[in-house]
Amino acid sequence: MKASGKSKDMPKKVDLLIIGLGPAGVSCAIEAKRCGLSILAVGDEPIGGLVPAARRIDNLPGLPGISGAELARRLAEQIQALEVPSLPDRVTSLAKNSTNYSAGTSDGLELTAKSVCLACGTRPAEWTNFALPAGVHRDLRNIAKNHQNLRGRSAVVVGGGEAALDTALSLQDLGAAVQLWMRNSVPRSGGRLLNEAYELELCFCPERHMVALTGGPGAWKITDQNGEMHQTHELMLCIGREPRDELRAMLPAECPGLFAAGDLIRGHDRYIASAMGDGQRAAIAAAAYLANQDGRKI
Ligand SMILES: Cc1cc2nc3c(=O)[nH]c(=O)nc-3n(C[C@H](O)[C@H](O)[C@H](O)COP(=O)(O)OP(=O)(O)OC[C@H]3O[C@@H](n4cnc5c(N)ncnc54)[C@H](O)[C@@H]3O)c2cc1C
Repeated sequence: MKASGKSKDMPKKVDLLIIGLGPAGVSCAIEAKRCGLSILAVGDEPIGGLVPAARRIDNLPGLPGISGAELARRLAEQIQALEVPSLPDRVTSLAKNSTNYSAGTSDGLELTAKSVCLACGTRPAEWTNFALPAGVHRDLRNIAKNHQNLRGRSAVVVGGGEAALDTALSLQDLGAAVQLWMRNSVPRSGGRLLNEAYELELCFCPERHMVALTGGPGAWKITDQNGEMHQTHELMLCIGREPRDELRAMLPAECPGLFAAGDLIRGHDRYIASAMGDGQRAAIAAAAYLANQDGRKI
């Protein structure tokens, strides 16, 4: 479900502008509402951010085993029930004068806020080994929106971390014959996810990596380090993610009233519960900052 507001109905000047509507931004919005702040949340993807890419979430207290799609649906429902003004748009510029922040969006809006929470998450890490042809998927959501099932189709997932393993299992759930190509001999993931991959007989291809790629969506030709060519319908690169910190970089180092939350500020501990906790903390810090600025009670 997208952030659903129409730009003409949105407040253009608020106490707190929240940028990003993944778990960090959603949690920040919920807590900021509780604190009585006027807010606007802007998200350039459906509400939930990366959450719908998760196959099954085992580490969220109180909701064991919930699917990413279901959790994203509930987050969107909660945002709507609370009537959080949310705008489907991308913030492309951010500046601060002596009192306010001003943000520009892709749709040409100018927004003003007394404080800002950056909850922008991450983007797929750049592939630097060679130039990639167009159409390589970096995210399960791209494939899932085009295919209800992948029966009779093959898929290669490149990557050895938790997200790669999770994505490979999701593709296998959809019916694809999946290979997981890893540089290392074992995946960098343990516990239940790995056990499940063994139980479901996921095809691991250890110490295999891609040195050349031709073709396109539906008909990829991948050359491995031994010069062997492999054909696959679907190809997914899950080789890590890096912070989307371009908005932070537009501001001076010291910026009172600027807060950040979620994967954007985390290292390798990028998890939904941590992102939610960060978002909540950012909202409380913003409320305290505003109380200090204009003497209001929180
Ligand atoms: C395959 C996979 C499986 C996972 N499984 C689990 C799991 O089982 N358990 C777990 O705890 N975690 C899991 N995770 C990690 C979890 O999804 C993230 O830690 C979490 O989503 C981070 O939340 P976030 O709000 O910080 O960022 P995100 O979820 O990335 O959301 C950030 C949002 O901000 C938007 N945005 C960025 N810049 C702008 C801008 N300038 N303007 C407007 N919008 C912007 C982005 O498009 C995005 O929608 C998984 C991740 C992946 C990839």
